[in-house]
Amino acid sequence: MDASQIIDQLGALDIGAVRQDEPLRRHTSFKIGGPAKFFVEPESQSAVVRALNWVRDHHIPYFIIGQGTNILVSDQGLDAVVISTARGLKSIEVEAPYLSAGSGVLLTKLAHTAARAGLTGLEFAISIPGTLGGALVMNAGAHGSSMVAVVERVTVWDPFHGVREIPASEAEFEYRKSRFQKTPWIALDARLKLSPEDPVKIRETMSHHMAYRLQSQPVGEANAGSIFKNPLPEFAGRLIESIGAKGWRENDAEVSSLHANFIINRGGAKAIDVLRLMRRIRCVVYQATGVILRPEVRWIGPGEGGTNTTWDNLWYAEGEGLREPCE
Ligand SMILES: Cc1cc2nc3c(=O)[nH]c(=O)nc-3n(C[C@H](O)[C@H](O)[C@H](O)COP(=O)(O)OP(=O)(O)OC[C@H]3O[C@@H](n4cnc5c(N)ncnc54)[C@H](O)[C@@H]3O)c2cc1C
Repeated sequence: MDASQIIDQLGALDIGAVRQDEPLRRHTSFKIGGPAKFFVEPESQSAVVRALNWVRDHHIPYFIIGQGTNILVSDQGLDAVVISTARGLKSIEVEAPYLSAGSGVLLTKLAHTAARAGLTGLEFAISIPGTLGGALVMNAGAHGSSMVAVVERVTVWDPFHGVREIPASEAEFEYRKSRFQKTPWIALDARLKLSPEDPVKIRETMSHHMAYRLQSQPVGEANAGSIFKNPLPEFAGRLIESIGAKGWRENDAEVSSLHANFIINRGGAKAIDVLRLMRRIRCVVYQATGVILRPEVRWIGPGEGGTNTTWDNLWYAEGEGLREPCE
């Protein structure tokens, strides 16, 4: 199918404007990323599902994007239909002690909603940018908690079975990991179970988390959060700092001097600059400590398709055996 047929057929689905060659750097917190061949922001859950069914039925590669705060997008961009959850999956419903929300809702908004309703459990989310959907995929967490502690069930779109509900146990949440990373499920909404608490106490905890965040991380600079996962019980930031990497640079990509596990885009950084820095860090940390760091940020590049698999050597699959970290 050629580009004009794709535009016509997507347009006929009544899912809003279909943009062509949309720069993905506009949709990522890193401000990095080449163009998406097609970019849509469907305005309702049913429109998101129509778009997903269509790409599946026509074997067109696709990629789902939330707030783009945990991804490093290739400079070549994506030859795919990129579907944003930002507009269509925005419902929020509170029925204490439950909070149900569409996967395009920002985590910070959810944390504030829970606080207003006097529900505890989401305070940790106040300092995590990004959407509920991205947080489910990553089992996002901070300040000693993560999504696994609150998720009760998720409505998913599954290319083989359509829309269905799964209990949290089926999502197989682990540290910065979930089944969403290895199956082509798309999260449409989720139901979270919280507990009653004094709103003043909840707000105090959230303020404390925010204050800590502001002093320990380069908030306000273009970045994608932690670059590497913590090789527990060690911390990636501590290991990277120990090799003297703070301030290392590849063109406009720089290791933050505030937190060594953050890479900052100083303005014109390309994905290739970030990759070079990541490879250098991983190699030197390995030589100095024997620890192989694994990326937390997700690589989004050609070949991504609907599978969320990645091809850069930094992201080799766990269980595939160790690759030489300095190759
Ligand atoms: C300054 C900063 C601080 C951060 N701090 C933290 C932190 O403390 N803890 C933490 O865990 N993370 C942190 N992050 C990373 C990031 O915010 C989280 O991982 C967040 O949950 C990602 O959400 P997103 O909407 O931006 O996802 P995106 O970056 O848009 O997507 C991430 C992945 O999820 C997939 N995806 C997105 N939505 C869906 C969906 N609905 N269904 C299926 N797949 C989907 C995408 O395809 C992609 O593979 C930080 C990032 C920044 C920039």
